Amino acid sequence: MVCAQLQITSFTAEQFTLLTLAGVVMGLASLFGACFAIRVRRVGSKWLWQAVRTKHSSSWLTWLLEQKACPTCGAPGAAT
Ligand SMILES: [Zn+2]
Repeated sequence: MVCAQLQITSFTAEQFTLLTLAGVVMGLASLFGACFAIRVRRVGSKWLWQAVRTKHSSSWLTWLLEQKACPTCGAPGAAT
């Protein structure tokens, strides 16, 4: 999307639309990929998904960053 915006004069309307849509699809795929990939192995608790699903849109990131241990099983947040 940034590339499309920076080079807007060199693209046709169709190319610009395709690049912008590709950026949106990549962003959504990244969000959903992270939602299901970031998890505690032992219990399968998905931290990012839990934050996005259960917290208000204005506070999910703050809540997520405040967690020092898994909110489901209490496992420490440090990587092993
Ligand atoms: Zn856990």
